[in-house]
Amino acid sequence: MQQSHLIKPLLDADYPLADHGKGIFIYDSDGKDYLDACSGAVTANIGHGMKEIIDAIQKQAEKIAFVYRSQFTNEAAEKLSSLLAEKTDNHLNWTFFVNSGSEATETAIKIALQHWLEKGKPKKTKVLSRWMSYHGITLGALSMSGHSVRREKFTSLLEDWPVLEPPYCYRCPYGKEFPTCGLHCAAHLETVINRVGADQVACLIVEPVVGAAGGAITPPDGYYEKLKSICEKYEILFIADEVMTGCGRTGAMLALDHWGVKPDIAALGKGLGAGYAPIAATMVSDKVMEPIQNGTKSIMSGHTFSANPLSCATALAVLQLIDSEDLLSKVEEKANYLQKKLKKLQSEFSFIGDIRGKGLLIGMEFVKGIEAKEPFPREFIFTSKLISIAQKNGLLLYPAAAGLDGRHGDAIIIAPPLNITEDEMDELCKRLREALLELNIDNEGSRERHEQ
Ligand code: PMP
Repeated sequence: MQQSHLIKPLLDADYPLADHGKGIFIYDSDGKDYLDACSGAVTANIGHGMKEIIDAIQKQAEKIAFVYRSQFTNEAAEKLSSLLAEKTDNHLNWTFFVNSGSEATETAIKIALQHWLEKGKPKKTKVLSRWMSYHGITLGALSMSGHSVRREKFTSLLEDWPVLEPPYCYRCPYGKEFPTCGLHCAAHLETVINRVGADQVACLIVEPVVGAAGGAITPPDGYYEKLKSICEKYEILFIADEVMTGCGRTGAMLALDHWGVKPDIAALGKGLGAGYAPIAATMVSDKVMEPIQNGTKSIMSGHTFSANPLSCATALAVLQLIDSEDLLSKVEEKANYLQKKLKKLQSEFSFIGDIRGKGLLIGMEFVKGIEAKEPFPREFIFTSKLISIAQKNGLLLYPAAAGLDGRHGDAIIIAPPLNITEDEMDELCKRLREALLELNIDNEGSRERHEQ
């Protein structure tokens, strides 16, 4: 094969060449099909080849592809920001468009810091976040990410920001159990704020359902309500990183909607362009924008491609398609069906320790010993093995970190396009079962459990 000049995740690995996609399937150059059980990177939320989106892209490209935000506004960006505001009941009334999730979370903290600066509280600069979190790869976003593996090579360049323990009920960091725990992990925020000093803290950023850093860790009801009320008490802005969870992935526009909690700022990404365009967004409430509107009247950020008409027209078509096909109202039913089938697999394979998640963002954590929740030894490289066997068999899965230190644990994310059918979910589980069998792990315990 000819030498490749492309820097890929693994420089010496052989990746199949993706040729085309149709619905929830991707086909490689040999014609082999892959059922995409994770929407690429939890991104291609409506699958491939959707005519409505292709038409919208073509129409916009024929009109105008790029204008610079300091010189013009454009119809697609205006319409998309209006639709987004409407979808948050005009709570997040302002949107700044960027190109990636990392830029969206970095913009979120810059706006939070600017808010306090323009309010005459320049000392409020600290960003609180949680361990087992991922907010992006750029140095600012990585500073607030509690992702041990991603941080380790850059520690000298990063701020020491993550301070809270994750709401990881399967392995409670405090050794407690819900509900007798009294949501200690949320209440602890108050202790941290008092230790750091509320006058120093600008904001708290959280992923409503933890993605790549924890395998769809989903806190119990009451957790976000408590975090938000503590933030309000101490005048700390509450930022939701909805890059993975937003735009319908969990069955709501924002995952926080499930708990009736309104963030002050939200970051969107992945599902916004659904893979048809690179676009992300930082959405901001009137309350946060007010001092900026009354002050410098301009946010301290900017990107060349911000509010790019082609990306905005694509995202607009994606959100309109989700509405016209009424996809969100069907997510819960589909998720219940899929979870039921995955739980059946759990009764067959003893090493499936936990299945969790919200809507069509489902995490599966694997353990060597079901009772002790003992992780597989590192040298077994469980997740990579499973993912590569699955891909060889035509099933795409997304890896996630697990275990309290984010290193000693194995999890995957199952997050198929929202328009997956029941037959396709059956096929997904069939291919997953085949991959789990092919791992060839001693399954004695599971057989006993199955026979009970
Ligand atoms: N936040 C979350 C929750 C994410 O899952 C990701 C990407 N996995 C990001 C931010 C960063 O997004 P991007 O890779 O588009 O920069």
